[in-house]
Amino acid sequence: MKIQFVDLHAQYLTLKDEMDAAIAAVIRDSAYIRGPFVDKFEKDYAALFGVSHCLACANGTDSLYIAMKSMGVGPGDEVITTAHSWISTSETISQTGARVVFVDTDPDTYTINPALIAAKITPRTKGIIPVHLYGQSADMDPILALAEKHNLWVMEDCAQAHLARYKGRLTGTMGRVASFSFYPGKNLGAYGDAGAAITNDAELARRMTCFARHGGIKKGEHEIEGINSRLDGLQAAVLGVKLPHLSKWTEARQRVAARYNELLAGVGDLVTPKVAEGRDHVYHLYVIRTERRDELMAFLKERGVPTVLNYPVALPFLQAYAYLGHTTADFPVAYAHQSRILSLPIYPEMTEEMIAYVAEQIKAFFRS
Ligand SMILES: *Cc1c(COP(=O)(O)O)cnc(C)c1O
Repeated sequence: MKIQFVDLHAQYLTLKDEMDAAIAAVIRDSAYIRGPFVDKFEKDYAALFGVSHCLACANGTDSLYIAMKSMGVGPGDEVITTAHSWISTSETISQTGARVVFVDTDPDTYTINPALIAAKITPRTKGIIPVHLYGQSADMDPILALAEKHNLWVMEDCAQAHLARYKGRLTGTMGRVASFSFYPGKNLGAYGDAGAAITNDAELARRMTCFARHGGIKKGEHEIEGINSRLDGLQAAVLGVKLPHLSKWTEARQRVAARYNELLAGVGDLVTPKVAEGRDHVYHLYVIRTERRDELMAFLKERGVPTVLNYPVALPFLQAYAYLGHTTADFPVAYAHQSRILSLPIYPEMTEEMIAYVAEQIKAFFRS
């Protein structure tokens, strides 16, 4: 059996007629940039979260950057984030001119450890970016409390956590602003790059819209210099077709994860994903841990099971951050995890046979 890590074509086939018609409609109307498809998606996405504003933009890295620039982050500022994420989270902090301040992760959930944040707050700190990594919410209550106490903003990086929940609240609705990615492999994926920022703060929404559109909302008027970051009509139409299916796909991911949990319980030294109390994991990634990670990865590859390392080097240890002078002892949890984590195939259309096949190969490895 040959398994795919993610099968985007399988999902396309379930929507083919509607998707082809939606794409054809954009071409028919020449609605390539902004226009009704983008307006509708922004409205529908904001409504899904019960927030007042959604700014769709070119990708989920831009949405982080646009939000920070629009909150006035710049040189001399510090922004706190997790040691374990995709580099978008931290590179956009640096791009504003601010300094990245990393915090180690929680040993069970891979998300930022709130108990370690206070020690990193200085008079220069402006905000905190928790990442709801792999599809599980960070521990938001203590983060929000710290932010309140020190007058900091919180921006949720929801790129991997569409419809995840924390104590009943949707991720993306707890901070001042939240950033989403619709990269094709994300839980809600476009057919190219796409992203969005959502907020209930009308003034921030206005500033973000302005910044993302060359610094002006009205044609011919530029309040500031901005950037060009637009969602195109084709991507908006694709996302519009997919959006009504998101919660069903989320449940399907949760079912795949539950099957993996059952089949992999007690196998070797495997640690399957732990879901903290009060949190609904949406399993963008199903990440296991083992001391024999590299061997297991090679074994699975030979048997037609692709796996991925998300991420093989924690952010503070990347060459890009060598200038910060960190040692592995500064982030012992993220460091311990980076050589043990392994992401298994997961997507909503995975069949019971596929799940069983993956689990069987893993068991075979630990028997050998
Ligand atoms: C995917 C991702 C992003 C960036 O999204 P793009 O749309 O690829 O720019 C940001 N943060 C995290 C945690 C991500 O996984």
